[in-house]
Amino acid sequence: RDTLTAEYNNTDSVRTLFEQFGEQIAAIIVEPVGANMGVVPPAPGFLQSLRDICNEYDSLLIFDEVITGFRLSLSGAQGYYGITPDLTTFGKIIGAGMPVGAYGGRRDIMEQVSPVGNVYQAGTLSGNPVAMAAGITQLTLLRDHPEYYTLLNDTSDKFFNKIKEILLEKNLPWQVNHVGSIGSLFFTGHPVTDYASAKTSDVTAYARYCNQMLDHGIYIAPAQFEAMFLSLAHTPEDLSHTLDAMCTCL
Ligand SMILES: *Cc1c(COP(=O)(O)O)cnc(C)c1O
Repeated sequence: RDTLTAEYNNTDSVRTLFEQFGEQIAAIIVEPVGANMGVVPPAPGFLQSLRDICNEYDSLLIFDEVITGFRLSLSGAQGYYGITPDLTTFGKIIGAGMPVGAYGGRRDIMEQVSPVGNVYQAGTLSGNPVAMAAGITQLTLLRDHPEYYTLLNDTSDKFFNKIKEILLEKNLPWQVNHVGSIGSLFFTGHPVTDYASAKTSDVTAYARYCNQMLDHGIYIAPAQFEAMFLSLAHTPEDLSHTLDAMCTCL
């Protein structure tokens, strides 16, 4: 009831809502790289246009960086694309996989939160020591080893480009989207730029492919709209085995 939905990568659809309801819109919340409809990168200029619209209407820009934070770069998608939101949400990665969520942003907004401000916020696992220790250990490692990102992103570029080569060789029209170490193989012949185009995927064919990959010992996400995540734990052998399996199953 309190939420308006605009289309990803469609600045006009956002603008139209603001022209109608701008005065009442507190914030835009968006994944800077769409990763819950498969991976859908932001079109050039899209994130900047959200920033501009928020500035114009005095609304807040919130990036959901649960998936992209500390993954695309140490400064997340906002560092990767050079767009600064007012608030950012984190989960999963910030605790090195331990159960944790976090948000942060502009000082004047954070000062609204208790104990400095009067917005009360608490949770059973808030500040859980095990999750905090895991998160700090991981983030320190990432901060001290910028080469990890170079290696991960280079390895990922090669991996996803190899998938494109396999598709070309097999004359399949499927689409590969990826940004850094997250990517998707969409079973559709249309470029995937938003939810509507993601939904043109042949999910039955995807399910068949997914099961065949399992038979080859590769457990990819069992849904077309989940992403593939590369990690530094994947060895070159793991990746070439995965590509061989794809070559057989596609
Ligand atoms: C998992 C996820 C969430 C939800 O995080 P919780 O910690 O489960 O509340 C929000 N946004 C994105 C993009 C996610 O992947």
